[in-house]
Amino acid sequence: NRQIQIAELPTAELTPDHFKLVEADMPKAGDGEVLLKVILMSIDAANRSWMKGATYRAAVQAGDPMPTYAICEVVESNSPKISVGDIVAAEATWSDYIVAKGHRVEKLPKVETLSHLMSVYGIAGKTAYHGLMSIGNPVAGETVLVSAAAGSVGGYVGQIAKALGCRVVGIAGGPEKCKWVEDEMGFDACIDYREAGLSKALAAACPNGVDVYFDNVGGKILESSLNFMNEKGRVVCCGAISQYDTDNPTGPRNLPGVIVVKRLKMEGFIVMDFAHNDAKCVRAMQHWVGTGQIKVTEDIVEGLENAPQALIGLLAGDNKGKRLVRVAAD
Ligand code: NDP
Repeated sequence: NRQIQIAELPTAELTPDHFKLVEADMPKAGDGEVLLKVILMSIDAANRSWMKGATYRAAVQAGDPMPTYAICEVVESNSPKISVGDIVAAEATWSDYIVAKGHRVEKLPKVETLSHLMSVYGIAGKTAYHGLMSIGNPVAGETVLVSAAAGSVGGYVGQIAKALGCRVVGIAGGPEKCKWVEDEMGFDACIDYREAGLSKALAAACPNGVDVYFDNVGGKILESSLNFMNEKGRVVCCGAISQYDTDNPTGPRNLPGVIVVKRLKMEGFIVMDFAHNDAKCVRAMQHWVGTGQIKVTEDIVEGLENAPQALIGLLAGDNKGKRLVRVAAD
């Protein structure tokens, strides 16, 4: 049973030396527990933020295996509600096998493509849908701006907003990604934040200002975007990836002034807050996938041993769409 543990907590940029691959004992399922074979693991920017300290979950410590959300197959069950062969979602770790409490795993429906339960119908699609619909409240004709637009959450935010009839502007790193966001994701425009002149580019791409800004990155991009908000605009605080992998965080300097003057609403959320609306979200996403208004974007890295590099690469922006690691065939 291979397992990837944290060798040392990073104080600045994450590197492969912060991880170690170990051969751990095969875990045993106790009373009410299940033994699970990990098939797909979600690689999230949040993995890096858990290494910085407690967030909405406990901090990850040196010596711990990296926690992850995973899709697994049940190989042994001491739980009456779960059978061998069931496919379940579970709080797992970067491992080949894990043990979980039977009542803590979620049985998944039989689907053609398992990975879709982590991308469009999973954490990425749900985060995009709930944040945009419940906090952003976009109305047809409004301008929606979203950062990390070529990433998993950002790509769905823009496509949903487009399906709702909004003008959609993305922010992403590099000309090739921006072209992909416009051509493949169907955004009206995408701005390369690595180029100088972000404010000028925002002014050109958002001639009527911004009504909803879906912020995945925080920092300087948030600061610049706030300056283009319309009065009564909504800022959806989803994450702050620009602040996770650095020892030198840079918060927006225009807070709270710009919030007051423009009467903005700025609200954070965690995807689980809206679990009661998940069924509605999945139905909506299925509809848009069916009509072709939403394209499923996935970026699957093969092999447990490649999980550290998959996370390091995600932080550096080498992914397009939802990044997953395939640990075993389904
Ligand atoms: P993504 O698939 O969106 O990938 C992250 C992207 O962020 C990279 O591809 C990179 O693209 C971009 N990025 C990295 N560094 C910077 C930087 N310094 N400035 C601007 N962009 C940067 O990852 P996730 O889907 O895991 O996460 C997206 C955001 O959503 C994160 O902030 C995450 O914490 C948040 N999140 C929040 C949830 C919630 O419940 N609130 C749930 C899930 C995710 P590029 O090449 O464009 O730089």
